[in-house]
Amino acid sequence: MQDLMDTLTGKFTAHYGRAPEIISYAPGRIEVLGNHTDYNEGYVLSAAINYGTCFALARREDRQVRLMAGDIMEEVQFLVDAPMPTEDHMWSNYVKGCLSGVSARKAPPCGFDAMFFGNIPLGSGLSSSAALETAAALCFAKLFDVEISKLDLARIGQKAEHEYAGVKCGLLDQVSSIYGKENALVLSDFRTFDIKPVNFPEDVCFLMCNTHAKHALVDGAYNERRQSCEIAARHFATVLDHPVAALRDVSWNEWLQYGPSLDERVARRAAHPIGEDERVLAGVEFLRDGDAAAFGQLMFQSHESSRKYFENSCPELDTVVDAAKAIPGVLGARLSGGGFGGSAVVLVEKRHAETAAQAIRSAYAHKHGEPCDTRLIICSEGARIIQG
Ligand code: ADP
Ligand code: MG
Repeated sequence: MQDLMDTLTGKFTAHYGRAPEIISYAPGRIEVLGNHTDYNEGYVLSAAINYGTCFALARREDRQVRLMAGDIMEEVQFLVDAPMPTEDHMWSNYVKGCLSGVSARKAPPCGFDAMFFGNIPLGSGLSSSAALETAAALCFAKLFDVEISKLDLARIGQKAEHEYAGVKCGLLDQVSSIYGKENALVLSDFRTFDIKPVNFPEDVCFLMCNTHAKHALVDGAYNERRQSCEIAARHFATVLDHPVAALRDVSWNEWLQYGPSLDERVARRAAHPIGEDERVLAGVEFLRDGDAAAFGQLMFQSHESSRKYFENSCPELDTVVDAAKAIPGVLGARLSGGGFGGSAVVLVEKRHAETAAQAIRSAYAHKHGEPCDTRLIICSEGARIIQG
């Protein structure tokens, strides 16, 4: 983080001819347990990671904004009162959306010169977009001198993503970046929006394994999964004697009892978020006891549920998870995020992390020709102002 801040300060000063006044930092995130549970009003365990984005700005006398993406050295200019989304420089939309969100709470006092710089690989499932939004929104709130709650800050980022970047994301990415804690996972309840840290053992860490696989029909497959979950929830609402607003309200035992009267495929889809909710809650208890091995088993079960019920895994992700099972020091592995490609997250003892990463890369290369990327992930502190 200090390195990022120093580099950004240097680039900012060289480009704008003065030092930044306010600097913020926001990390990316990984999803650890609780897959496709958010839109079923369920639970997710995630973590802020040891990669992030720094955002810096200095106020101007006029109402002009100059905004620079420090990694690619591209600049855009616009008026602080009119941050409009554009087709070119798509990266600027995430920032403009956040400016618009903070401006809706308090009018901007002045224009500014801004620059951001980060070390999260873009589009690799670590949520560089949420890190950028969160870092930008934090800086704007500081510049405008307006108090914004953590949850509101997350909602500003989500709205920017929806309305300025055109990505219909949930709230998990922003929440994880904002609420992250060192040596802790973030437990989110997507019904009550109660969000809290859960201590995580210090002798284990994660490997994020990016397969770069992208499977066609992802949108159609995603819509079918969502629809199946909704159909199943309506079914359970009619057969159970307690209220069911979403699959969050259905237990695994109820699925076993009443699932068979559903369409076979719809029942399988519903099994995944229902099982995931129970695994998240069981996982929290295991972490309270410091039992990383038992927690890891839940991750393997989560992947099995993806593979068997939700069918959002793919051969590349299965390769990583199957290879991980046989590697010393690995405690668990599963796909992370939407699925149908992308990344798998592996839980490993820190002392075995490097050898495990090598073993996964070579097992992957053996099957698919090229190694997957592996990255060591440590649960880290969430977004914050670091200067100003
Ligand atoms: P992810 O969030 O998983 O990394 P997304 O596609 O949601 O993937 O977001 C990636 C986009 O976010 C990039 O294409 C770019 O527009 C923007 N972005 C995020 N961080 C940066 C950065 N440091 N520099 C330039 N653009 C960035
Ligand atoms: Mg994103």
